[in-house]
Amino acid sequence: MLHSRIHPLKFITKPAAQIYIKRDDELGFGVTGTKLRKYQSLLHYIKTQAIKHAVLIGGAYSNNIVSLSQLLIEQGVVPHLFLRGDKPPAHKGNFLLTSLLVPTKHIYWIKRDEWEDVENRAKAFAEKLPEASLVIPEGACMVESLPGALSLGTDILRNEQEHDLLFDHIFIEAGTGLAAIGLILGFKIYRKTVQIHILLLAGHEAEFLKKLESFHQYLFFNYQVKIEWDELIQGLHFYHPNTAVSFGTTNKQVFDAIIQIARHDGILTDPIYSAKLLMMAKHTILTSDIVGNILIIHSGGGLALMGFQEQLASQLQCIIEKSS
Ligand SMILES: *Cc1c(COP(=O)(O)O)cnc(C)c1O
Repeated sequence: MLHSRIHPLKFITKPAAQIYIKRDDELGFGVTGTKLRKYQSLLHYIKTQAIKHAVLIGGAYSNNIVSLSQLLIEQGVVPHLFLRGDKPPAHKGNFLLTSLLVPTKHIYWIKRDEWEDVENRAKAFAEKLPEASLVIPEGACMVESLPGALSLGTDILRNEQEHDLLFDHIFIEAGTGLAAIGLILGFKIYRKTVQIHILLLAGHEAEFLKKLESFHQYLFFNYQVKIEWDELIQGLHFYHPNTAVSFGTTNKQVFDAIIQIARHDGILTDPIYSAKLLMMAKHTILTSDIVGNILIIHSGGGLALMGFQEQLASQLQCIIEKSS
C-alpha cells in the first residue's frame, strides 16, 4: 500500500493547535500523489482487461493527463487525448510535458462549445479502435479508481499509529472530488470520526454530495459496505477558495503564498491546488475555533509550477523591492 509521511507545518501557527502536513506529494515526481493512489486500482483494471488503448479526457494543463499518460505508456497502453480547446496552446507547463509524452497525432482538440459532448465522442472514437480500449473521464474520476483512492484514509490511520496521535480535523482539496471521497469512505469503513474540511475548487457542494452518494452505492453493491447517509455526511465542511475563486485561476496572493510556504516549510506547492488549500486552511484555522490535531493533505501537483515561471519571478521581484 502507498505510504506517505506526516510532519509538523510552520506556515500556520495557533495556540492549542498542532498542525501537520501529509506528504502525498512525495509519492512521485512526475505523478501527483493522490492520483497515484487512484491509478493503483485503475491500472490493475487496465491490466486485467488487457486494455491496449486509453482515451483520456481533460484540459490541456491537466495533472491527470500528464500523470496518467506516463504510466499508460509504461504499461504499453496507447494514450489518445481528447483535450479542451479550439486549437493547441503554447508548449508550456503541463502541456509541454504532455507533448513530450504523447505525439501530436494522438491529441484531438474539442472546441469549448462542443465540450458537453466530449464523452460521447470519446466513446465513439474508442469503439472504432482495433483493440480493447477504455475511456477515462476528467480526473480519472471513475469507479475503477475508487479502491485505490480509499488508501488515503487507511494511510492516515497508519500515520496516527506511528505518531501516537489522533487527528481531529483534516483539510483536503477537491477537483473532481474522488480523492476526498476516497478519504471520507476510507475512514467510514474503519469507523474513524473526524471533521473533514473540503476546499471545492471545481464544483459545488451539491455535485460533490451526489458523487459521494454514487461512489458509496458502488461500495455497497460490490463490497457490502453500507453507511447511513446522515453518518456519511457527518463532519463534512465545504469551502470555496478565498482568493482566485474560479478553477485554474491564480493571482499575486497565491504566488506570494507559494513563496511564504517555501520559505517557512521548505515545501513547493502549485498555484492551482495545494497553495490554495494551504491559504484556505490558514484562513479557516485562524478565524474559527478549530483546535487540536490538524492534518493538511499535500496532494502533489508541483510539476504545474513549470507553467508559472514569469508570475513567480515577478512576485519575487516585488519581495526584493519591498525589502530593499
Ligand atoms: C488532481 C488533483 C487534485 C484533485 O483530485 P480529485 O480527485 O479530482 O478531486 C487535487 N490536488 C492535486 C495536486 C491534483 O493533481
